[in-house]
Amino acid sequence: MEQTEKIYDVIVIGAGPGGMTAALYASRSNLSTLLLERGIPGGEMNNTAEVENYPGFKSILGPELAEKMYESAMQFGAEHAYGDVKRIVVDGDYRIVEAGKKSYKARAVIIATGSHHRKLGIPGEDQYNGRGVSYCAVCDGAFFRGKQLAVIGGGDSAVEEGIYLTQFADVNIVHRRDEFRAQKIIQGRAFKNEKISITWDSVVEEIKGDGQKVTGVVIRNKKTNEITEKAVDGVFIYVGILPQSDAFLDLGITDGEGWIITNEHMETAVPGIFAIGDVRQKLLRQITTAVGDGGEAGNRAFAYIEDLHDRLEAAEAAAETVD
Ligand SMILES: Cc1cc2nc3c(=O)[nH]c(=O)nc-3n(C[C@H](O)[C@H](O)[C@H](O)COP(=O)(O)OP(=O)(O)OC[C@H]3O[C@@H](n4cnc5c(N)ncnc54)[C@H](O)[C@@H]3O)c2cc1C
Repeated sequence: MEQTEKIYDVIVIGAGPGGMTAALYASRSNLSTLLLERGIPGGEMNNTAEVENYPGFKSILGPELAEKMYESAMQFGAEHAYGDVKRIVVDGDYRIVEAGKKSYKARAVIIATGSHHRKLGIPGEDQYNGRGVSYCAVCDGAFFRGKQLAVIGGGDSAVEEGIYLTQFADVNIVHRRDEFRAQKIIQGRAFKNEKISITWDSVVEEIKGDGQKVTGVVIRNKKTNEITEKAVDGVFIYVGILPQSDAFLDLGITDGEGWIITNEHMETAVPGIFAIGDVRQKLLRQITTAVGDGGEAGNRAFAYIEDLHDRLEAAEAAAETVD
């Protein structure tokens, strides 16, 4: 493995909104900063057609917001390199970031690798993603005012987001079992909501469309095998969300599901390793919250490195006194 010579103050892993904000804050504080990304900078914003809940813009295309954030993040001298990070090794006061054939050395690392939604893997899901198929009610619900929606799933997210969507649309929750896994209090709210109907014991086998947008779903009842087709304008899928944290599991900083645990300063259990954005154990996963985390982590990384320098200087001074 080729180790680069430069020692960075901070390496940020992942160039979504969280990572780009962390790089902005760190480099603006004069820290030498490297942003490592395995794809195109922008993260999930690149998969978002329109963003209507990022302050400063009434509406903006996701990739356009990504480009603006990238320009912002790079303006104070942060470096950007391609890298698919596989491991972080703790070596005294240094953190070694291994990405493919290269490894990079830093004093602090900020993990900003995001999460991904589990897919159903059915026909029409990819074809109509962003054109009626969505994994985020807060992001896309407002596009469906007065429409008919199917929500797929039976856990907390599916039922809670189903309730949220009723402020815009009529919602049919399709669930493969005869009862929800969601907390009872959330279930109670759903049962009382007149805009929610429930299709029990059923799975969606196909998402239909007219080539441009979603027009319906094909539903199979698991008990009777009866197939029905239901006209809907949108399908919200909540069958699980997974953290992109495989590369960091051996650091012991994750919970049982792989979400990285931090305190409110984005510090993990390992000093000098921070985590931000969607990969973190938290409730609201949005661009605004990722950006907020990024600012906090960039700032705390600066404080951490100042402390580190103070400690090293004090140790050197103590050694000189002994000499
Ligand atoms: C379809 C869709 C629509 C959405 N719409 C909205 C919306 O309208 N408004 C809103 O606020 N939020 C929206 N969201 C949510 C929002 O996009 C996320 O909350 C936000 O992008 C999270 O930012 P992040 O920086 O934590 O992670 P991400 O944006 O997921 O970025 C993580 C980055 O890390 C990189 N990466 C991952 N692993 C590695 C690795 N091992 N090595 C190197 N790089 C790695 C990835 O390639 C990616 O670029 C939407 C999400 C989706 C999926």
